[in-house]
Amino acid sequence: MARINLEHIRHAYGEKPKSEADYALKEVHHEWNDGGAYALLGPSGCGKTTLLNIISGLLQPSEGRILFDGRDVTELSTQQRNIAQVFQFPVIYDTMTVYDNLAFPLRNRHVPEAEVDRRVRETIDMIGLSGWADRKARRLTADQKQKISLGRGLVRNDVNAILFDEPLTVIDPHMKWVLRSQLKKLHRQFGFTMVYVTHDQTEALTFADKVVVMYDGQIVQIGTPAELFERPSHTFVGYFIGSPGMNLLPARIDGSTVSLGTDTITLDYQPKVAAGARTELGIRPEFVRLGREGMHVHVRKVEDIGRQKIVRAEFAGKSIAIVVPEDGEIPAEPRITFDPSAINIYADSWRVGRE
Ligand code: ATP
Repeated sequence: MARINLEHIRHAYGEKPKSEADYALKEVHHEWNDGGAYALLGPSGCGKTTLLNIISGLLQPSEGRILFDGRDVTELSTQQRNIAQVFQFPVIYDTMTVYDNLAFPLRNRHVPEAEVDRRVRETIDMIGLSGWADRKARRLTADQKQKISLGRGLVRNDVNAILFDEPLTVIDPHMKWVLRSQLKKLHRQFGFTMVYVTHDQTEALTFADKVVVMYDGQIVQIGTPAELFERPSHTFVGYFIGSPGMNLLPARIDGSTVSLGTDTITLDYQPKVAAGARTELGIRPEFVRLGREGMHVHVRKVEDIGRQKIVRAEFAGKSIAIVVPEDGEIPAEPRITFDPSAINIYADSWRVGRE
């Protein structure tokens, strides 16, 4: 398996891009560790598939280089890059048996038949299709077919990386969960470098070591699920991760004082903000305390979501979401305070650090 370096990658589909807006990928520059499980997460059209296709070699970037373990592979084909891919729809041979489907990539590479047999049988056990080896692929269910697609990636134990493009979209919700945990187990066991495209945040968060959040042709943050939740580096990440997303309140910053409408909060640090920048305070609904002390709010709506309630309120001219326990009381004259350690400050959408 390989370490992947993406060096100043930019891509425009048209012949002559006229402005930044014509680039599907604006500037991607990152190193992904050997054996890491990366989930590419972002809304439709943000550039996930474009980036995946550039890594696999299906697409040549307009600018930049791709390196596997330090070797420039930008000009190489998918096959030369030695990459396995699992797509949304399983790519298998319907008329072949499960066994032959898995043997195919090895026979293609002239692996000796005894070795083929050993690896195919191992893989069949791994993907949980023992007893199905002689079954024709067309007689299998959608999730069994997708297991074969996955198996075809795993059977070749020499690949540099396995790339997944929304592989569980066509799988029913229960099987999705089963396949996801199986994949996670296999990754732990074999440590292959894995890049997994999804627009489902639950899928990304439960399964990846590192989530790569994309927005408008850029990577806006790479982090663990906890980092994305606690310290979103961009307002988009705050809003996209979590349900409901982070509250973003227009704020004026003066030293360590943050003004929100007529209320002020004092931080234990001074965010460094350039003059004229648009500044916001970000606070997750889970870290807003509703009680009898603090800043006034007007409660507009309460949604019961089982173990918790989501209170929608008006604060400083904006709508704010507050998560309260199911038995949490909503006072007649409600007020709010923010957990100071959970406050993030943003200038022109980017998080301002403490340093
Ligand atoms: P989705 O989740 O819907 O698959 P995505 O994040 O994978 O979206 P891409 O498919 O990479 O996004 O698309 C990024 C941008 O590039 C979009 O604006 C899309 O319209 C554009 N695009 C993608 N493929 C092509 C193409 N073959 N020709 C022209 N433009 C394209």
